Amino acid sequence: MIMPQESPIVEPVPVLGDNYIWMFASEENHYVAVDPGTSDEVIQWLDDREGRLSHILLTHHHADHIGGVAALQKKYNPQTIGFHGDASRLPALDRTVQEGDTLNLGHSMAQVLETPGHTLGHVVYKVGDALFSGDTLFSLGCGRLFEGTAEMMWNSLNKLLSLPDETRLFCAHEYTLTNHGFALSLEPENPDLLAMQGKLMKKNDQNQPTLPTTLAEEKRVNPFLRCSDQSLITHLGLEKKNPIERFAQIRRWRNDY
Ligand code: ZN
Ligand code: FE
Repeated sequence: MIMPQESPIVEPVPVLGDNYIWMFASEENHYVAVDPGTSDEVIQWLDDREGRLSHILLTHHHADHIGGVAALQKKYNPQTIGFHGDASRLPALDRTVQEGDTLNLGHSMAQVLETPGHTLGHVVYKVGDALFSGDTLFSLGCGRLFEGTAEMMWNSLNKLLSLPDETRLFCAHEYTLTNHGFALSLEPENPDLLAMQGKLMKKNDQNQPTLPTTLAEEKRVNPFLRCSDQSLITHLGLEKKNPIERFAQIRRWRNDY
């Protein structure tokens, strides 16, 4: 028997150029897929392990996160889980969840947090120390504001910031290198950002994921989590703005980067 894991083994299935479908075990030979934007790669991954799909966790309704669901449902009949408030925009769900819900995934447990901003109905899942942050929080970045306001996203990011520093972040996209360039343009002297550069370039050259990252690391380098950092505020001339306005301004700059 697999006991609930404080630090689950999570593996990436890279798809669609820069998406990750994250996989972890629910029971022996049974796996959970987070945001399967495609199905073929997941089926291949499971075949390689003689595994089956027990659950699908969905963070939000965008096609690059749900595109593989129908085919995977047909093949494995997994329990499909998503936010109740967005059920009309998601594939057929077996279970709907909301803020504070706890899910049993075989021998794993997931905690649900609502993080609106990128879309109005975005949720993230925390399994042990692993946070599946979808398109809310990326390494060195955050999701675009397609539906929510800057204030909503700011509140969502702050909710994630209150999680333990050692939380490992499994983001839905590999945007880290581009985000790093942007972050460095805002904080050219941030020693932690400078120190990352070589490692990121190497991983990029070797086609290796830059994820997971940790909340502790992101607090040092992610400009969207550093809206209250005095040297960043001064360098960018944002002294007169409140934290939400500073966040909104950095998000606008990122859109144009
Ligand atoms: Zn999205
Ligand atoms: Fe996405």
